[in-house]
Amino acid sequence: MQSIRPLRSSITTLRLVRRSRTYATTSRSDADLYDVVIVGGGPAGLSLASSLRSSSVTNGLRVALIESLDLEPTRKWNPAPGTYSNRVSSLTPGSAGFLQDIGVWEHVKRDRVQAYKGMKVWDGVSGSRITFDADLQDGASTIAYMCENNNLTSSLLSRISQLGEGIDILDKTRVEKISYGEDTGELDLRSWPVVTVSSGKQLAARLLVGADGANSPVRTFADIESRGWDYGRHGVVATLNLSEEQLGEKTAFQRFLPTGPVAMLPLPGPHASLVWSTTPENAVALKSMSPTDFAAMVNAAFRLSHVDLDYIFANVKTGIANEVAWREKNTAFDPWRVPATVTGVQEKTVASFPLKMRHADSYISERVALIGDAAHTVHPLAGQGLNQGIGDVRSLIKALEYAVQHGQDIGSVLSLEPYYSEQYLKNHVMLGVVDKLHKLYATTSAPVVVARSLGLDLVDKLGPLKKFFMAQAAGR
Ligand SMILES: Cc1cc2nc3c(=O)[nH]c(=O)nc-3n(C[C@H](O)[C@H](O)[C@H](O)COP(=O)(O)OP(=O)(O)OC[C@H]3O[C@@H](n4cnc5c(N)ncnc54)[C@H](O)[C@@H]3O)c2cc1C
Repeated sequence: MQSIRPLRSSITTLRLVRRSRTYATTSRSDADLYDVVIVGGGPAGLSLASSLRSSSVTNGLRVALIESLDLEPTRKWNPAPGTYSNRVSSLTPGSAGFLQDIGVWEHVKRDRVQAYKGMKVWDGVSGSRITFDADLQDGASTIAYMCENNNLTSSLLSRISQLGEGIDILDKTRVEKISYGEDTGELDLRSWPVVTVSSGKQLAARLLVGADGANSPVRTFADIESRGWDYGRHGVVATLNLSEEQLGEKTAFQRFLPTGPVAMLPLPGPHASLVWSTTPENAVALKSMSPTDFAAMVNAAFRLSHVDLDYIFANVKTGIANEVAWREKNTAFDPWRVPATVTGVQEKTVASFPLKMRHADSYISERVALIGDAAHTVHPLAGQGLNQGIGDVRSLIKALEYAVQHGQDIGSVLSLEPYYSEQYLKNHVMLGVVDKLHKLYATTSAPVVVARSLGLDLVDKLGPLKKFFMAQAAGR
């Protein structure tokens, strides 16, 4: 039987004799023993590492984090004022509250975060619309905070370093292989995952956490199936400069086009973040446009009919800005729904990502837990992916604290089960709602358009129902 005492104060290095299927039968090498090995230094992995160190219950655990990228540029992240990364996430008040609780929020560069209290959403075919206002929520002043992913990960690293020694961060290090350990006579590690990394080092984990993104090697090791589908859509992102004269209250705009939703989300000053889900062909066209044509197309996406947009994408290869200007002059659009005019796009910020929906069959198995995109990948139309990952961390840390306080083995399914029970169904419902929304708005079929428009108008008029939807999305 393994000891369930945290390892930091006990044995840390062990000479293992390998007889497993994966390794040569006679090889011998050192394996470091850890209570928790986290694979992945993205937002989810770093949030877990930070939480484990912040908690007075779990801060005695011996923890390692493995990340293939170099984290030094993130540690030193100090961008020029007025320039923004194209990877920005809307953090719900629930996520921000958790980050505050674990001492991370105070490290976030707040002058680069934009809170917003209003959101306008409309149907790009019928024009029916809905508004969300933070005032609808009891005591809330914000729907979400737009925060660059780099700002978050850099703050997580600052918090980890503020907490001092305790986490071995192995960056620029790839996981090469994961297999089970051995019964050495001294310790029976046959149920312990042993991670071999690119430097040759081996780490044996009482609990192995996969925070390693959508193609998770940890999930593959645990033989957990991940199911779903590709949307055949790409999310085009960019950082936009806006007309200063037209800047009003900070508001998020989202229009559902048959090819996918286009969203403009506020950043500080005259800037906004674009997420435009569209066909791979349109994404290629947008990425190859001049900055002037790109800005014109984004303006068109919020102003022109979807038929006009399809026409331009299919037929206009040069002079796009002129074509858009001419069509806008001849189109009556509702000022209610039109964001400030885009005047330019920041250099090197136009990029695209293929969009997919995936959900792992389970988040846990013996000595393994999955969090973040390793467990679920969601369409970005509701801005929930990273928030779900933070929700996973909040839940997993609670389960681990309980296990430590009650002398349980933190890697056992018994200890991990409360995490799975709390998060799986919640995430499944959110994945389902977002997936259905995408499909509902991807059609121009008249009966569906009428039905969805009536639904949108109805929810807009029914305060309590709207309040319910907002509470779900805000992570409360
Ligand atoms: C266009 C777009 C817009 C989005 N907008 C929002 C939004 O507004 N709000 C929101 O909440 N979410 C949003 N999301 C989702 C959000 O970006 C993701 O959910 C989040 O970044 C996932 O974080 P993660 O830490 O789970 O995974 P990742 O960020 O993928 O991190 C995984 C890490 O694991 C490392 N790794 C992988 N394999 C190995 C290996 N073998 N060895 C070592 N390291 C490894 C990788 O290098 C990586 O750093 C958006 C996504 C897209 C595509």
